[in-house]
Amino acid sequence: MKYARSEALHREATQVLAGGVSSNFRYQGYGASPVPLFYSHAKGARLFDIDGNEFIDYAAANGPTILGHAPEPVLAAVRDSLAKGQLYAGQHAGEVALAKRICELVPCAELVRFASSGSEADQAAVRLARAKTGRSKIIKFEGHYHGWFDSLFVSVNPTMDKAGPVSAPNAVPQTPGQAESALADLIILPWNDIVAFEHVMRTRGDEIAGVVMEPILCNTGAIAPAPGYLERVRELTRDNGTLLIFDEVITGFRVALGGAQSLLGVTPDLAVFAKAVAGGFPLAVLAGRRDVMELVKSENVMHGGTYNASVFTIAAGLATLEELSRDNGAVLAAMRTRGEHLMGEIRKLADKHGEPMKVRGFGAVFHPAFVSGGDFRNYREFLNADAPRRLRFNTLLHEEGVRVTARGTWFMSAAHTDADVEETLRAVDRAFAALS
Ligand code: PMP
Repeated sequence: MKYARSEALHREATQVLAGGVSSNFRYQGYGASPVPLFYSHAKGARLFDIDGNEFIDYAAANGPTILGHAPEPVLAAVRDSLAKGQLYAGQHAGEVALAKRICELVPCAELVRFASSGSEADQAAVRLARAKTGRSKIIKFEGHYHGWFDSLFVSVNPTMDKAGPVSAPNAVPQTPGQAESALADLIILPWNDIVAFEHVMRTRGDEIAGVVMEPILCNTGAIAPAPGYLERVRELTRDNGTLLIFDEVITGFRVALGGAQSLLGVTPDLAVFAKAVAGGFPLAVLAGRRDVMELVKSENVMHGGTYNASVFTIAAGLATLEELSRDNGAVLAAMRTRGEHLMGEIRKLADKHGEPMKVRGFGAVFHPAFVSGGDFRNYREFLNADAPRRLRFNTLLHEEGVRVTARGTWFMSAAHTDADVEETLRAVDRAFAALS
């Protein structure tokens, strides 16, 4: 792969864009290119950079492009909507239609609010939990990501010298400039450890407003909850009057139409969606229990946003959910089957090359990790995987024209065809060969 044009434009970018990018997550060039790449266009499962390199894209914009790039039904709906204007600082019928659809699909959704990004919808969720309970503490788990705001950007990937005891971890700030006071309102726990959870609920339950988690841990290796874990967390939070918040920004409308909560059969009090819900347009959703959501009116718990429910993002949301719902969810089912096939074949290729790789996940989103010995259940165990080897593998894949996320997670889209998958597997085979 040659990146000369991206390198030149990156030099130019650093003169006018802070750090040369618009999100810190884009510095790494996906760990696979010498500079952040500039892309010229994308269609279906394919992404093209300005040097003419072509990628089969499993980064999928970090999850949103569930129907692939430039999906015609969504673009057509957005185009149609643009003729009606973009934003009114007032209501329009589309919001009601989309809210109804979400209430039909998502088990916890009795009422919804729209926002523009996952980070802000997560912020709204913890505010509502505090308002509902009159308590201040939120339980957050190591390795889970709930956006970049001060309040929750804590212990996402702490280094072990700072992380503290395994069953009572420190709240580790993730960025310079973060308010120290934000840390005081969080209790950090290891995920998938019911003993640690029970202990905190027993000893500090009367302080705890909410528990926020990725119900499937997609930001740290696509880890599933241990059998019974979510059920017990649900039981303890309910008994204690603590709100359970599922951050379904990745899992929503991806692992199932109704999200992880419908797949796993555990209904939270509040849930946050973004990414796949509008196929790549900036829409986020806070959904949940009527009596909690109603506090935005009855107690005037503040949730606002100039861009909330803009006409074209709602149009994108309606069109995306219509495509995903078609034929009883056939699109998602096919995507999952194709993803599971890909996972299985990657495992076989790893075996063939004698690589200690575990591929964990759900078809629609999965994560291959180099790990010998036991599997992992949470962030600290995830650190046992060989991250440098995964980065090297991702770089080799990238050279072969297969792009995955910087954290090594693969997102399927409905646009990936059987031929894309076969081409991907040939690239995986060559990447493994080059690795050893
Ligand atoms: N929660 C989760 C689980 C996420 O994966 C992300 C984004 N990767 C966010 C929240 C934040 O969403 P946004 O980037 O839209 O602010």
